[in-house]
Amino acid sequence: MTKHIFVTGGVVSSLGKGLNSASIGMLLESRGLKVGLQKFDPYVNVDPGTMSPYEHGEVYVTEDGAETDLDLGHYERYTNAVMSKNCNWTTGSIYFSVITKERKGEYLGKTIQVIPHVTNEIKDCIQKVDDEDLDVVISEIGGITGDIESHPFVEAIRQLGQDIGKENALYIHLTLIPYLRAADEIKTKPTQHSVGQLRQLGIQPDILICRTEKPIGDEIRDKISLFCNIEKESIIEEMDVKPILYEIPLVLKEQGLDQLIIKKLRLDTEGHRENIHEYNQGFDEWLSMIQTLKKPEFSTEIAVVGKYIEHQSSYESIYESLIHGGVGNNAKVVERRVEAEDIEKDGVEAHLKGCKGILVPGGFGERGISGKVEAIRYARENNIPFLGICLGMHCAVIEFAKNVCGLSGANSTEFDTKAAHPVISLLEEQLNVEFKGGTMRLGAQPCKLKHDTKVYDAYNMDLISERHRHRYEFNNNYQEQLENKGMVFSGVSPDNRLVEIVELKDHPWFVAVQFHPEFKSKPTKPHPLFRDFIKASLQTQ
Ligand code: GLN
Repeated sequence: MTKHIFVTGGVVSSLGKGLNSASIGMLLESRGLKVGLQKFDPYVNVDPGTMSPYEHGEVYVTEDGAETDLDLGHYERYTNAVMSKNCNWTTGSIYFSVITKERKGEYLGKTIQVIPHVTNEIKDCIQKVDDEDLDVVISEIGGITGDIESHPFVEAIRQLGQDIGKENALYIHLTLIPYLRAADEIKTKPTQHSVGQLRQLGIQPDILICRTEKPIGDEIRDKISLFCNIEKESIIEEMDVKPILYEIPLVLKEQGLDQLIIKKLRLDTEGHRENIHEYNQGFDEWLSMIQTLKKPEFSTEIAVVGKYIEHQSSYESIYESLIHGGVGNNAKVVERRVEAEDIEKDGVEAHLKGCKGILVPGGFGERGISGKVEAIRYARENNIPFLGICLGMHCAVIEFAKNVCGLSGANSTEFDTKAAHPVISLLEEQLNVEFKGGTMRLGAQPCKLKHDTKVYDAYNMDLISERHRHRYEFNNNYQEQLENKGMVFSGVSPDNRLVEIVELKDHPWFVAVQFHPEFKSKPTKPHPLFRDFIKASLQTQ
């Protein structure tokens, strides 16, 4: 039977519930267990797809094309679990299905209530993940317990614990032990209150993970244990591990968290010895990755030219993938985060001089486009390795069409519907037909690679699969013109209709892709494009 771990958080937000859930998953996998993960978000939006990167951070795209919370990115980077539509639910999506059922008359005339209808829906969603042969499902409840909006989720996990039995459910609560400088003391009161609130809602946490700046001494541990009704050994201290977040599993393991979970849930790790390699993230591999991160031999500096640049979380997977690319080359990657509009104001040299590689990530809307195009021109003309992603690819095509092919009115119809040369446009505009419904290309799609190209060198495969999230495409009417001037169309859809990758012939490493490679990179398995991009940047030093 699949066992369940529920991760909640208290005191303040941003304690790293996502990273902790991912780390717990990683530790259990390293013990040979097969793990699933999912996240519940208490906001009312049906999914984060329509939310601004300022509001929500990156939208993470799964293989099956769901637009999800960025914590799912942590889950996939730390574990071998494959995320799907069933792995991220919000208040909005839960109510959406309840109301849809109600409209269809599926409740047979009953009055629909939060308990039991909404809570049942949540319980069904939790169990949608556990029908594969998983040993453990980790469900993270977003937000802070005690907030009005997370009540139905907390109630649902309480009920589920009852339904499946105490020995099959484990509640882990993440809290903060603040340090007061003036008093030179760490304080347990907020944690006591937070656990108190959870108990009022009917949940006694089994394990507490305490985020703290200062070590928790024995005395404090006694106090937490007494007031929160939790055994001392189940109080885990988690000191800050910045800047290497991949150390969190080590901190948790040092205190025996994996063993504690295995004991409390009576998980059978012995029985899994045979398939341990299949699921195992590989603890030794993880350790050696951290060693490389701590003592890299080389160093390089990559400029990321975007438009939500002041928010770390807006480009979370991109930054992570750059770090992975560094690990793959035994190198530290220093990121230079550049606001595209600043290039427009101050000129390109002011912001990009001296960098060893330039990356233009995905995005929506016109703001900052000319700054990005200028950055790409700088990369092309100065032989600086370049990686363009989605909107970054669109900008690379616009730049080449304008500055190399002399098509001065080149643009994407996303920014100018009447562009003289719509080198990037909607498929329906290219084919002059009208598509019904949503036209966003989402999720994993295949792509054929051309031999003797930079991307073929990177992947060493004829057919790859990568994740998409966009509406606009390269306009094939311009292919010949651009090819004649040295652009290589090195990756296309198997039916040859869609251009997936462009690169430049006479350049050390210039690759722009329509998809999002950053969603498939892991610290222990750097994505081939990020790996080779960093490699090229090291070679230009
Ligand atoms: N805005 C562009 C499109 O919709 C690119 C999207 C992206 O970069 N993810 O096609």
